[in-house]
Amino acid sequence: AKATGKNKYFIYNKDLQIAFEKRMKIEKNLRGAMDNNEFFLYFQPQMDILDGRITGFEALLRWQNPELGFVPPLDFIGIAEETHLIIPIGQWVLKNACMFLKKLNDMGYRDMMIAVNVSILQLLQENFVDMVLNTIEESGLKPEQVELEITESILVESYQTIRTRLLQLKEAGVKIALDDFGKGSSSLSSLKQLPINTLKIDKSFVDSISTGQIGESFIDTIVMMGRKMGLVVLAEGVEKKEQIEYLIKRKCHRAQGYFISKPMPEDQAIVLCRDWSNP
Ligand code: C2E
Ligand code: CA
Ligand code: CA
Ligand code: CA
Repeated sequence: AKATGKNKYFIYNKDLQIAFEKRMKIEKNLRGAMDNNEFFLYFQPQMDILDGRITGFEALLRWQNPELGFVPPLDFIGIAEETHLIIPIGQWVLKNACMFLKKLNDMGYRDMMIAVNVSILQLLQENFVDMVLNTIEESGLKPEQVELEITESILVESYQTIRTRLLQLKEAGVKIALDDFGKGSSSLSSLKQLPINTLKIDKSFVDSISTGQIGESFIDTIVMMGRKMGLVVLAEGVEKKEQIEYLIKRKCHRAQGYFISKPMPEDQAIVLCRDWSNP
């Protein structure tokens, strides 16, 4: 028994060591990733489930590195934040996401939005509002076509600074979505005080549809409340037909998820626009 214990301890250390080395490798490679053109974007459609129209796409960052292969965002976004590399990376994401939507516009797909994830570290940059507005202007989009997705964890720090910046962006026409809504510490007061346009209901609540969990009544409440507040309510991570049907019944406006489409490269997203019968 003692030997096993020792062995376990050894394995535990080894796992830690491997995790640590992986992290170091990610950090090292992340530093050169922008210059080496290792980033690209995938796009996942967002659908108006009440009329079947594609309302836009969420841009999702992808990283392919020669040494590490494909690294999922959850494995490197945190490190990018700790090292502040998220600032140039986030700027790159916004610019390229806007360029993608402009391309769609020029092809005749006009009434569409691009949603871009934004880290708190970006929002805390002094020049964040100018950076966003300049990038949008240079891309030739209207500010109304761009939605920044922020998470509630963002709101804990420097609340007033962030609120002011979001208000400036709203003033200019930029849309704001509250991502992962309901996950973690949901504060309803922030909903009232911040200029939010869209509520993205976290996937965990969508998962509970049909399993009969309390998540269902949570969704009902969010949709009703969101509608009353004049917000767009979007359900994330929709994977099943019965989930879409439930959401339609509850008059949730929009949905995003594998059931509609997985995130995909630009050329496929363009094909999807072409083939989708946008009524
Ligand atoms: P998120 O913003 O909540 O994005 C949704 C995630 O759920 C994406 O994962 C997407 O691929 C995945 N997803 C969409 N539909 C489904 C579904 O039906 N089922 C399942 N199981 N998953 C679904 P992804 O692309 O791996 O991104 C993970 C997270 O990384 C994002 O979560 C976001 O927080 C962060 N992230 C991605 N791109 C960026 C970026 O450009 N900037 C920042 N700051 N964060 C990003
Ligand atoms: Ca998001
Ligand atoms: Ca989300
Ligand atoms: Ca998330």
